[in-house]
Amino acid sequence: MKGGDVAICSECETIAQHTRGAPGHAGLISLGPVRSLRAVSRKATHEAFVCVVCDTGWDYLDDKRDPSAGWTRC
Ligand SMILES: [Zn+2]
Repeated sequence: MKGGDVAICSECETIAQHTRGAPGHAGLISLGPVRSLRAVSRKATHEAFVCVVCDTGWDYLDDKRDPSAGWTRC
């Protein structure tokens, strides 16, 4: 990407945000688990990813008690 361009790739565009269980895509690399307060207090799994195509950062929150958990761009 060149200077300040915030466009995301077509693969990232297809990711359904805030939908638990929605798939990511093959170009996402896991940066490992995130030890967030929310994850610990709710016994949820929180993991950070980055897209190798467009460099977009993603968070995946797997929280059984929150149906709107899932992918979030960051
Ligand atoms: Zn992407």
